[in-house]
Amino acid sequence: MTRTAARVTAAVKVHGSGDTRVRALDGVTLGFEAGRFTAIMGPSGSGKSTLMHCAAGLDTLTSGKALIGDTELGALGDRKLTLLRRERVGFVFQAFNLLPTLTVAENITLPQDLAGARPDPEWIATLTGIVGLGDRLHHRPGELSGGQQQRVAVARALAGRPEVVFADEPTGNLDSRSGRQVLGLLGRAVHEMGRTVVMVTHDPVAAACADEVVFLADGRLAGRMPQPTTERVLDRLAACDRAEAAR
Ligand code: ADP
Ligand code: MG
Repeated sequence: MTRTAARVTAAVKVHGSGDTRVRALDGVTLGFEAGRFTAIMGPSGSGKSTLMHCAAGLDTLTSGKALIGDTELGALGDRKLTLLRRERVGFVFQAFNLLPTLTVAENITLPQDLAGARPDPEWIATLTGIVGLGDRLHHRPGELSGGQQQRVAVARALAGRPEVVFADEPTGNLDSRSGRQVLGLLGRAVHEMGRTVVMVTHDPVAAACADEVVFLADGRLAGRMPQPTTERVLDRLAACDRAEAAR
């Protein structure tokens, strides 16, 4: 039996008001199956980040529903929403978003420390070993390369064993080797640790690491591709470009 870790139904998000109104999501219904790695692709401005933020409880929908497991986010007050974000969701951002004054170890356990949860030292040790930062625990982010910083961010996202990890262009600021390491970690999180990962990417190679690719265009679902390969994703993107050019 499959379970949905996160989902949105009839999701509409309007940013701004008046002349600057933008309908970033225009009725998206989409579920992310538990234990799977899903990539989201689409042109710049197609609503990928908005979809992630609304699905993760970082932003609210204008209409429609967003759920983590069976919990509807729109029904939660601010306090419960904050707790849900800390305890049930992990995030990885393009710009790493680590706290510069905290050490690697402190950054990794920060969400749990904020939640008043006691991090499991054995699990944290295992995790820092997996991400290859065991000898960097007392360094500060400024003393690390971009790839190392993003691996800290991945460890932070996984530390509380969240139900779903959302990653918005996690390899966008990395060289290809560091990018591959981060993708490898996200893949292991799904296929070895049983996590659920949803990742926005522009990179067909990164998308091919996922179990499925979801395509967005103009705030709408434009298709899904199970078992993607780099070649099929490239073909699909080229076809979208041709359709766009023909309009
Ligand atoms: P993507 O991540 O696919 O590039 P976004 O979700 O960031 O797309 O943006 C979708 C649309 O919504 C774009 O037209 C963008 O300019 C607009 N948008 C996103 N965030 C905001 C915001 N906070 N205020 C106003 N418009 C926004
Ligand atoms: Mg974006």
